[in-house]
Amino acid sequence: MRPIERFAPNLNSLAGESTLVYQEKAREVAARGVKVINFGIGQPDVPTPAVAREEAKLALDQGFTGYTSALGLEELRQAVADDLKERLGSDVRKEEVIITPGAKMSLFLAFAAFVAPGDEVLLFDPAFYSYAEVARLLGARPTYAKMRRESGKGFSIDLEDVQSKLSPKTKMIVLNNPSNPTAALLDKKEVEGLAQIAKERGILLLSDEIYDHFIYEGEMASSLDDSSWRDYVIYVNGFSKTFSMTGWRLGYVVADSSVIKKMGTLAANTYTCPNSFAQRGALGAFRAKGEVQQMVDLFKRRRDVIYGELSSLKGVSLDKPRATFYAFLEVTQVLKTTGWSAKQFSIKLIEEKGVVTIPGDVFPENVGRNYVRLSFALAEDKIREGTKRIAEFVRESLG
Ligand code: PMP
Repeated sequence: MRPIERFAPNLNSLAGESTLVYQEKAREVAARGVKVINFGIGQPDVPTPAVAREEAKLALDQGFTGYTSALGLEELRQAVADDLKERLGSDVRKEEVIITPGAKMSLFLAFAAFVAPGDEVLLFDPAFYSYAEVARLLGARPTYAKMRRESGKGFSIDLEDVQSKLSPKTKMIVLNNPSNPTAALLDKKEVEGLAQIAKERGILLLSDEIYDHFIYEGEMASSLDDSSWRDYVIYVNGFSKTFSMTGWRLGYVVADSSVIKKMGTLAANTYTCPNSFAQRGALGAFRAKGEVQQMVDLFKRRRDVIYGELSSLKGVSLDKPRATFYAFLEVTQVLKTTGWSAKQFSIKLIEEKGVVTIPGDVFPENVGRNYVRLSFALAEDKIREGTKRIAEFVRESLG
């Protein structure tokens, strides 16, 4: 065996970003001249607010291009703390914030700081795909508590199932609220119940709240609402979705200052610090509350369009997304009739109709297998055209 083939064992268990396969397929179809409608991409399609762009440009022109502190710019950490105070009423100090290169790196720091070989990490099924991958990379074992769907209401968590899936090895519970891919928004009772379990059992709660601005019905219940969050919560959020800054790579963790210090050490020894001028831009982004609200209003209208088009379609089933910019469409009847997996459904839909969706089976573990995820972060006319093609496809598949 050549030295370059001797990968670390845990790396071999790491799946690629499986959502990219569908984008690749879409490019092939587009090259044949088909006008592709892409419901696959999980990012807002609006520009980054002008104030953020201007601040970043100014920072560049001022020569603000060196390293920053591993923890990120003090002003930005303070701005994050102020924003959380304003939005959630939570008392957070800047010492309790670390700025990271994207929320994915925030999640990675949280896992790397706490999860060790032999540990179990409890995820909800279905979950954002990278939680399980990172847990396995660190030698831990993902376990799952099912999210339950009530027709008309959508997905919620089942606290009894959570209790039954915990073991003495469970180090961390990972919550994503609002949830990608289910579009669920947990209510106060669910979040408080989960917090109670975590505290009683001495387990960390990693709470990824990156979609918390994209709420159309109901209210955000945050893990930071509990005044004892410092004892057990690792909170993750970021700039990617809220401010349409996916490519800027900026996220943040809020946790007890002792945790943030450790994460700073991890940062200093790996990526050094987040991008300097992007951080200056992010400071500007906090002044763009109006633009954020406009985007959320726009997405709510699109949510209504996609829900209107797909909820009346025979053979599939969709609950109104209460949050995020995803519609999680149940296609069980089509899969049963055709014998396809959700992956095959998505591939055929691209090939035959030029419509990209993400099959639910990329979101572990089992629940997603009968679903496909559609991002509605695209123009209304495209949503209408895409859902029209999906309707044709479903009708043809059901025969
Ligand atoms: N968490 C969830 C639930 C996400 O959907 C995403 C992005 N798709 C991330 C984290 C990562 O965000 P970022 O681009 O800031 O790394």
